[in-house]
Amino acid sequence: MTVAPGPTLTLGYRFASQLPELAVRWQAEEAPQPRLLVLNDALAAELGLDPAALRTEEGLRLLTGNAVPEGATPVAQVYSGHQFGGYSPRLGDGRALLLGELTGPDGRLRDLHLKGSGRTPVARGGDGLAAVGPMLREYVISEAMQALGIPTTRALAVVATGRGVRRETVLPGAVLSRVASSHLRVGSFQYAASTGDADVLRRLADHAIARHCPAAADAAQPYLALYESVLQVQAELVARWMLVGFVHGVMNTDNVTISGETIDYGPCAFLDVFDPASVYSSIDTGGRYAYGNQPIVAEWNLARLAEAMLPLLAEDSETAVGIATEALGTFRARYNAAWTAGMRAKLGLPEGLDDAVATGLIDDLQTLMRENRVDHTTFYRRLGDAARGDVEPARLLVLDLAGFDAWLERWRAVGPDAGVMDLTNPVYIPRNHLVEEALTAATADDLGPLQRLLEVLARPFEERPGLERYAEPAPEAFGAYVTFCGT
Ligand code: AMP
Ligand code: MG
Repeated sequence: MTVAPGPTLTLGYRFASQLPELAVRWQAEEAPQPRLLVLNDALAAELGLDPAALRTEEGLRLLTGNAVPEGATPVAQVYSGHQFGGYSPRLGDGRALLLGELTGPDGRLRDLHLKGSGRTPVARGGDGLAAVGPMLREYVISEAMQALGIPTTRALAVVATGRGVRRETVLPGAVLSRVASSHLRVGSFQYAASTGDADVLRRLADHAIARHCPAAADAAQPYLALYESVLQVQAELVARWMLVGFVHGVMNTDNVTISGETIDYGPCAFLDVFDPASVYSSIDTGGRYAYGNQPIVAEWNLARLAEAMLPLLAEDSETAVGIATEALGTFRARYNAAWTAGMRAKLGLPEGLDDAVATGLIDDLQTLMRENRVDHTTFYRRLGDAARGDVEPARLLVLDLAGFDAWLERWRAVGPDAGVMDLTNPVYIPRNHLVEEALTAATADDLGPLQRLLEVLARPFEERPGLERYAEPAPEAFGAYVTFCGT
């Protein structure tokens, strides 16, 4: 028998060295009995890591932060954040660590990060730990987002630690290893600004430019160009969420990335019925982060980023506010352009179709969907059949048949492209009842349902025989879905 050697991994420490004010050197808590629950072989290969080596004892020590590659400098990142509108001056990685930056064979630089790796100096009252269920949930949903083509942090592995985590009951603990373009957030800028040290803020902005929009360095106003690039990637991201029916659930400024990737899969969920007021998070009692509020909340969060960046935009604050206000004013147009382009694809509208006709079709359909409380995902997919002439599956979902038939006639008259629709409207999304079923089984040591769910979600646009139950809405008995934050 040959034993695969442990992984060799070289990690950079750009963040730790360039921004020591935002980084606390730290190490992970010992995992008494690490056991691999799931490894993302494809992502490992993309990163130039050998999956077999990651599966070894030494590999698991690396994936729990218990073995630190030579030269690496793990840190907890410090940031601030507006949480549900209230400002918290000092948050940070309370239960997470940035191990360092990894350069893949493709030359891309990415963060390797751990979640659930023990208390850090910014843990406040938290225990620094994470339970198996929520970490697998992040794995499943982030990988589903990736397969749907939506920018997201990735999940490399979930390793059970062998340590119990005290929640309502004692649950098995786990560490998630997460890969991201970076972990810079709006909250990072808020924290840097709050130090009152203009040099820290400038270094953070330069670091962000180098990592996410190097072209901004050559712009007439590099920091304005950075801000505009965040406006653009966030507008596109939130439009993608809206188009697929994703509810993030906790759009605090510390959960809004500079890269434009979705981060922090806590109380998130996908819509069943199309309803703008949908809220799944147990703590979002006011509906601040309801599905339909997400674009406006994104704009609010980006206003907070602008405030933090003011000292970079101009010497005197009045000029800076003017520049920031004008830039933020472009957010709605950026969002609308991204959303409308996405809706045109969802409805298979031909290129060159008159804007007024397209807008009429889109708006009227939204009204019909809302009034008829259709299942968001199933409805769009069945519209693809309708584009091919088979209108009954879509009609079955609707109560107001007269209204829908009139819309169908107008829509079919423009010649919708069913092929485009099938590549845009998924068959399979991580439906809440399926995710819960897989996590419950995994927590009781049966990883079969999780593996099958991951396989289904890896090819969301390809309808496959035998997988009908993965495409169906939740059974009535599943009831209203509630998710929990900070788990
Ligand atoms: P989140 O809503 O998941 O983004 O978390 C908000 C903040 O709480 C972040 O700073 C987290 O690091 C921190 N946090 C969440 N859960 C824990 C925990 N169990 N222990 C320590 N810090 C935590
Ligand atoms: Mg967070």
